[in-house]
Amino acid sequence: MAVLEVQHLKKVYTTRFGGNRVQALSDVSFTVEKGEYVAIMGESGSGKTTLLNILASLDRPTEGKVLLEGRDMAGIRERDMAAFRRDNLGFVFQDFNLLDTFSVRDNIFLPLVLAGTPHKEMELRLEPLAAKLGISEILDKFPYEISGGQKQRTAAARAMITRPQILLADEPTGALDSRAADGLLKIFNRVNDEGQTILMVTHSVKAASHAGRVLFIKDGEVFHQLYRGRKTNEELYQNIADTLTVISTGGERK
Ligand code: ADP
Ligand code: MG
Repeated sequence: MAVLEVQHLKKVYTTRFGGNRVQALSDVSFTVEKGEYVAIMGESGSGKTTLLNILASLDRPTEGKVLLEGRDMAGIRERDMAAFRRDNLGFVFQDFNLLDTFSVRDNIFLPLVLAGTPHKEMELRLEPLAAKLGISEILDKFPYEISGGQKQRTAAARAMITRPQILLADEPTGALDSRAADGLLKIFNRVNDEGQTILMVTHSVKAASHAGRVLFIKDGEVFHQLYRGRKTNEELYQNIADTLTVISTGGERK
């Protein structure tokens, strides 16, 4: 079943005085099935953040539709949007976005606190999740006391504790050293193996080579897709690198 259906998305930004129009997305369509792990790549300015913001319902498209589990996001009222986002989507950002005055535990609990979840239920959900993400030992620490890799695993726990339909990640390894990045990618693979659907925007060929499918955005459209099939990470890595070369040298779609 499709968790996410993106249909002919177009986004035109108009400057304040209406003089300048920037077409960030021209016609983007794709579908994500339940349990998929999809990476989105594209050069800077190709519209990746615009796309993610629309999927996160932080911005509205100029044209086109986004369906989450068959439900048209355009039909959700503004005042219901925050709850919809909290209940259905999990976010991981490049710069963690943790609250420095909250412990690791309270950062992870935050979306459940906002949803009014009973404390007992929060603890029940936290324990296995923290163990899986290797952060059980640091729950009482504060963000400034832990490493970048631990911060991002905390952010991932916060994104997943609501059991979202989709985990959306924008450059999640962008601020991590290679060892911490590898740790996070392993965790993404593990939670995906357990059924979590993931959509990740990344510049990193390495990160994308962990996904089951890679979408390439160019000139506001999906230019190409690679499926893992039976490929190893190394083989997929090579295919991704080759595709990026074609894109950056202005080649034609295959
Ligand atoms: P990417 O994340 O792939 O680097 P973006 O989605 O940030 O690309 O941007 C796509 C295009 O839209 C760029 O040309 C960018 O300058 C433009 N753009 C992004 N956000 C805005 C905005 N709020 N107002 C005007 N133009 C924007
Ligand atoms: Mg961006």
